[in-house]
Amino acid sequence: NKQWLLDNRPKGQPSPSNFRLVEAPVPEIGPGEVLVRNHYFSLDPYMRGRMDDAKSYSAPQPLGQVMLGGSAGEVLASQDPAFSVGDKVVGSLGWQQYGKCKGALLRKVDTTRVPLSAWLGAVGMPGVTAWVGLNTIIAPKAAETVVVSAASGAVGSVVGQLAKLKGCRVVGVAGGPEKCRAVVEEFGFDACVDYKAGNLSADLKAAAPDGFDGNFENVGGVVLDTILSQMNAFGRIAVCGLISGYSGEPMPVNNFRSVLVNRLKVEGFIVSEHMQHWPAALAELAELVGSGRLKYRETIAEGIEAAPEAFIGLLKGRNFGKQLVRVA
Ligand code: NDP
Repeated sequence: NKQWLLDNRPKGQPSPSNFRLVEAPVPEIGPGEVLVRNHYFSLDPYMRGRMDDAKSYSAPQPLGQVMLGGSAGEVLASQDPAFSVGDKVVGSLGWQQYGKCKGALLRKVDTTRVPLSAWLGAVGMPGVTAWVGLNTIIAPKAAETVVVSAASGAVGSVVGQLAKLKGCRVVGVAGGPEKCRAVVEEFGFDACVDYKAGNLSADLKAAAPDGFDGNFENVGGVVLDTILSQMNAFGRIAVCGLISGYSGEPMPVNNFRSVLVNRLKVEGFIVSEHMQHWPAALAELAELVGSGRLKYRETIAEGIEAAPEAFIGLLKGRNFGKQLVRVA
């Protein structure tokens, strides 16, 4: 059972030497437990925060233990009557080939219309994140304009498509012409601004001359600051992520005045604290993906060995859509 452990904590950007690959026995299960062979595990920006020994919304990842995180796989053995060998399940077994846990911590998923990998992305935690931030904080009305940063990513791509389904005008912000083109052509956004092109303010203005009513913030720093200056009165900002600062980079905000002048609502949220919304969100997202109305992209690193490099790439924007590792 190959496993990636957190070996030591990064200073600034993480590097492969922060992780250690080890070989452990396949675990034995006891009463109520289920043994799972991971097919995929998820790489997520929040993992960067947990690598630090600092106060955040979730506890630090302990050193010398398997990297924590979402996983999807197949039941190999079960001592929980709710699970049978061969069931496809989603859980939090982390960066390893095989894992065990109480059955209550696993969710059985139906892969007939939604592929297993998508239960970690558009129909998983990132999709629910999009759903919760958009519906409970921004709550856009038809014909309002919504902007979303990291628009090509696992969360951002779902935010924009859900807002389009509500009849909004949707503007994305992403890095590079290739991602921006796909955000418009594949995901159906009305426009997408390349924040690396050097004209962020003017390009946003051109994409939304009447300003923004909602902002789904995934990035922070200059992107957030520029959007703040173009918010409309009574706009809503869902603060989902601040990835531009996850390795300690400064994130100056000069336009906070806009919150007062425009009477903005600015609200942070953590998706795991909104469990009451998960069943409805997952049902809606599964229906949309199953019927082809919600598109998603994945970047899949092949083999467990590839995980650290893929994770570092995710923080640098080398992924396009949900970043996964295929284990088996
Ligand atoms: P993505 O699939 O969007 O991947 C991360 C993307 O962030 C990269 O592809 C890159 O895209 C962009 N990025 C990285 N660095 C920068 C930078 N300095 N400036 C601008 N963009 C940058 O990841 P997710 O969809 O999984 O996550 C998106 C955000 O949502 C993250 O901030 C994450 O922490 C947050 N999140 C929050 C949750 C919550 O409960 N609050 C739950 C899940 C996610 P590009 O090439 O366009 O720069």
